[in-house]
Amino acid sequence: MTLVTRFAPSPTGLLHMGHAFSALTAWTAARTAGGRFLLRIEDTDFTRCRSEYTEAVFEDLAWLGLDWETPVRHQSEHRVDYDRALETLRDQGLLYRCFRTRKERLALAGVAPHADDPTDPAAFTGGPHAPDEEARRLEAGEAFAWRLSLDRARAQLGDLSRLGWSEEGVDPGTHSARPGALGDMVMGRKDIGAGYVIASVIDDAAQGITHVIRGEDLIPMTSIQRVLQALLQLPTPIYRHHPLLLDETGKRFAKRDGAVTLAQIRAGGTSPADLRARLGFPD
Ligand code: GLU
Repeated sequence: MTLVTRFAPSPTGLLHMGHAFSALTAWTAARTAGGRFLLRIEDTDFTRCRSEYTEAVFEDLAWLGLDWETPVRHQSEHRVDYDRALETLRDQGLLYRCFRTRKERLALAGVAPHADDPTDPAAFTGGPHAPDEEARRLEAGEAFAWRLSLDRARAQLGDLSRLGWSEEGVDPGTHSARPGALGDMVMGRKDIGAGYVIASVIDDAAQGITHVIRGEDLIPMTSIQRVLQALLQLPTPIYRHHPLLLDETGKRFAKRDGAVTLAQIRAGGTSPADLRARLGFPD
């Protein structure tokens, strides 16, 4: 079997060291195995993605010394496929509309809306609205998300922990899906259609990805993706999650914390070979 892997950034900001590490890990794995390396632009969310960031992805990765197959798949060009999958799930009764605002979700989760933590409660388990409330909010034209009901997925598939995947990265072995940790996740939104989770499983199948090589922060997401693969009858690739690269304070690199970007590193005069060596990929 030829190893086929991908680097799949979302162009919502400039790439930083963490991205470079992830891209180099996947690219090196492909080269070492005599396999294929694909680049995929995960730009389904047009409210957050920008074309200049997509351009910067190409520039940064080429500067880093990577090459990839063309044409590059841009998810924004395949919305129909993802929306069709969203519809398939909806037709099976697996999705429900969720009109709750962040404030409402926090209140349901018993978290004070003024809490310092700006993030959503990690797992939404509030379930569907009462039918009359749903009808009223739909009628009022309120924004909503389509959430995947894990209860309904369980009713269709049985015990979800029987779904497994083969992990070759951190904690190797067979992993069982434990989607409960992320609750009833958003699969799409009224305004933007199907989102990242659906798009990524569709594309991994469409592109014949045999090995998903990415950061270990996405291990919880893998459980949901595994459930989606079962519901949409898609193959399950092998996963190879790598440890996250940490900065000198021991924190993971993150766009939202203003991590130093590859563009800044490049402008500072670092050579690609130096950066590759710093990341553990000496020539
Ligand atoms: N687009 C995702 C991100 O930038 C990566 C998804 C994946 O590798 O499966 O976090």
